[in-house]
Amino acid sequence: MNKILVIGSLNVDVLQQIERLPKEGETLAIHNKSTNFGGKGANQAVAAARQGADLTFVGAVGADSEGKSYRELLEQEGINTSHLLEKDQPTGTAFIMLEDNGHNTILVHGGANMALTAKDVEDADEYFRDADVVIAQLEVPGAAIKRGFELAKIYGALTILNPAPVTENIDPSILANTDLLVPNETEGAALIGLKPTTNQKELERRVSLYQAKLSLTNIIITLGEDGCFYSVNGKVGRLNNAIVNAIDTTGAGDTFIGTIAAHLDPKFENVRETLERATLAAGLVVSRQGAIPAIPTAEEIDELAL
Ligand code: ATP
Repeated sequence: MNKILVIGSLNVDVLQQIERLPKEGETLAIHNKSTNFGGKGANQAVAAARQGADLTFVGAVGADSEGKSYRELLEQEGINTSHLLEKDQPTGTAFIMLEDNGHNTILVHGGANMALTAKDVEDADEYFRDADVVIAQLEVPGAAIKRGFELAKIYGALTILNPAPVTENIDPSILANTDLLVPNETEGAALIGLKPTTNQKELERRVSLYQAKLSLTNIIITLGEDGCFYSVNGKVGRLNNAIVNAIDTTGAGDTFIGTIAAHLDPKFENVRETLERATLAAGLVVSRQGAIPAIPTAEEIDELAL
């Protein structure tokens, strides 16, 4: 099992169910409101920890009750929070407006997440020395990720970048130090300036574009209900989903990535087996309500895989 370091975000998700978005100057009632823990970094860390991985989290919360609850939650999962910093900014929040027609609109206040610095990351040096795998997403400042991936490469850890939320301006030095890119189909296509596709032949054709445009040789693209595509260490393939009764897809991608980080051999010897496991883990998440409460343990996956 890998030792993992996550450089990532923690957000409180405020879900507001509404009939429709208000027009300018209009006031509308919220039918239902619930608050949940989210943030791609935290979801991925919990998913990896529930697989049994040794986990250190490098990130930031505010000096508020949400930050305190978040620290407790990570500690209950057995995650090392010695580099979960407290910043002079509120804990990050995502306000999700879910309309009756199923559309959602999200406003994010990065807050403490955006106060994470390269120096904060450097301060976790002893954990970089020890890590087999370092994961990052794009919900914390690029300078922090850049320094983290530099340290990972100095100490020989495998780096996994989840380019979400996607931007066309990822610092080239982050990409230069990325060993494995794991986008979803929309993010994967946007990075090379194309439209999303799930077509196998087209995905295979695009592999060379990641190399030419972004100097990336290893990529796993999640395709939602269509499974995932991979081109890793010269092997190209596809997996279908094993579990198909989706009721809530929140956290699917994060669970997939956390599971990969926990099990993937850093020399890529077990790609297909790892993806089979990640597909089962993500399938279980989508068959249950919520994100963190729905993330499965290693035992649950073992039972399914028997
Ligand atoms: P999210 O933002 O909802 O967390 P994502 O867009 O990052 O997800 P997806 O590509 O939607 O990521 O899904 C990740 C993985 O989750 C897929 O590769 C698949 O294994 C699983 N998955 C997603 N949707 C479904 C579904 N409808 N049925 C079964 N498995 C699914």
